Amino acid sequence: MPYRPHIASVTTAGSNDKEGLYEFIIHTADGTDIRVFYNRFPEWKLTALSRLGKVPCPVCRKDFICKCMEKFSNEFDQQMKDGEWLSKAAE
Ligand SMILES: [Zn+2]
Repeated sequence: MPYRPHIASVTTAGSNDKEGLYEFIIHTADGTDIRVFYNRFPEWKLTALSRLGKVPCPVCRKDFICKCMEKFSNEFDQQMKDGEWLSKAAE
């Protein structure tokens, strides 16, 4: 079965409101944590994404750095917008 990420919750790890730069930690339903960076000007844009190596990658099962999650950056971006995580985090 192909992997499909699902965002369970999001925490804000850092922000620079003036510059519109945000760092979020996405917690997925399968227990994977992913760090994402966004620039909100002129509109929300995902600029970087990496998996935090606390649990093995749900795709390749490696417990060190891999690039699997980057393939899902569009999916994460869409869920961040659909779930209004971005607007909530920037309040
Ligand atoms: Zn992987």
